[in-house]
Amino acid sequence: MTTIRLYNTRTRRKEDFAPLDPENVRMYVCGPTVYDRAHLGNARPVVVFDVLYRLLQHVYGPDHVTYVRNFTDVDDKINARAAESGRAIGEITAETTQWFLDDMAELGALKPDHMPRATQYIPQMVAMIEDLIAKGHAYEAEGHVLFAVDSWREGYGKLSGRTVDDMIAGARVEVAPYKRNPMDFVLWKPSDEDQPGWDSPWGRGRPGWHIECSAMAYELLGESFDIHGGGNDLMFPHHENEIAQSCCAHPEGDFARVWMHNEMLQVEGKKMSKSLGNFFTVRDLLDQGVPGEVIRFVFLSTHYRKPMDWTAEKAREAEKTLRKWYAKAAQGVGTGQPHIAVVQALADDLNTPLAISELHQLYLADDVATLRYTLQFLGLLAADLPDWVSGPTFDLSILGDMLSEERSRAMKNKDFSEVDRLKALLIDAGIEVRMRREGVELVPGPDFDPAKLESLK
Ligand code: AMP
Ligand code: ZN
Repeated sequence: MTTIRLYNTRTRRKEDFAPLDPENVRMYVCGPTVYDRAHLGNARPVVVFDVLYRLLQHVYGPDHVTYVRNFTDVDDKINARAAESGRAIGEITAETTQWFLDDMAELGALKPDHMPRATQYIPQMVAMIEDLIAKGHAYEAEGHVLFAVDSWREGYGKLSGRTVDDMIAGARVEVAPYKRNPMDFVLWKPSDEDQPGWDSPWGRGRPGWHIECSAMAYELLGESFDIHGGGNDLMFPHHENEIAQSCCAHPEGDFARVWMHNEMLQVEGKKMSKSLGNFFTVRDLLDQGVPGEVIRFVFLSTHYRKPMDWTAEKAREAEKTLRKWYAKAAQGVGTGQPHIAVVQALADDLNTPLAISELHQLYLADDVATLRYTLQFLGLLAADLPDWVSGPTFDLSILGDMLSEERSRAMKNKDFSEVDRLKALLIDAGIEVRMRREGVELVPGPDFDPAKLESLK
């Protein structure tokens, strides 16, 4: 069996992955707060952990992995969106949830096994909070319930490697008169008439953000599970607080064994932000005609623990590569095993850039069936040959590059049959083929008929 190695934020080391139960490998990933379209950065953890999910399924069997990713559908940003738009909260969260699923499906992301919504787990959150109070880890103050970090000084801050005192010195924490320690965080807060609220032993209110993941992970995965993931912006305070809640409520368990964090996404070298005007959603890109698989490929080309830079140039290059690979892969049948070198690259802490260079090799090796199956294993080539490959955006310069590459190969192999075939096809489609030493230029003539290029499949 392939040994998977994963970098564990908690131990700051790459470790051999050994699941608690190989029959049921369990992973929890923090999902989106649903009030708006997912921006491109939100898609990064989705793709990263989708690759891991696929790898785990490959190694342990498709029925032996449980992947949970939540939807945060109770949050003050959602309340604000409802207030400013005059729409019902439920309508906004339902619509945004569906958008998220549609957009992520375009990126080739499989659906997790469970996608719990926070509002479906309020009683479990209330029970966990009651338990934390009973165990002396939380206290009620002015309608709020707070987690007392001083009750767990030995564990709080371990993930991000800081002590409570460091955190107080460095953080901009909300100082509230009812907090015993400025780092204490909210488990439950009171709701006004016009805010969503549920009855609780502390009056009508709503949960804090962190408790939802602790409660849902416990319900769906138990007190100990294998992997917890999310963006590294969540490490503190969100994940630190999840750990405190879960480990104090269920001291018999370890909560999550391996913590994995993806680095952030940037755009053309700059942080993606609304104020810089470089903020866009996944849907914006799809609407501009960038295929979802191209977005996925660009993501895969950077290792998940490195900051990733989105550039238009990378998207163009990715499109070119995929067209080339797809055209070849489409000639094969899609069963078999993924290429071993690709699986091994992923097993080494999800080394997706290495997996891509292995694919480049595989493309040259002419093993069409393996190429096809490996692309599908990576979440690419979802359809036999996606429309965009032969669709109206078909870029002749890419075909020219393909032909020029074929020519180089032909010169090595002394076999020009493929070059001749392609050339004849292009000419038949009404294209003038100018073969020069520097490259191949394709010029559409008056009789150019793009439909005839379909047979390039
Ligand atoms: P949020 O809805 O902001 O809680 O984010 C949902 C997920 O997207 C979390 O796992 C975040 O860490 C992740 N995320 C947010 N912004 C970025 C970004 N710029 N790059 C990568 N991941 C991000
Ligand atoms: Zn979470």
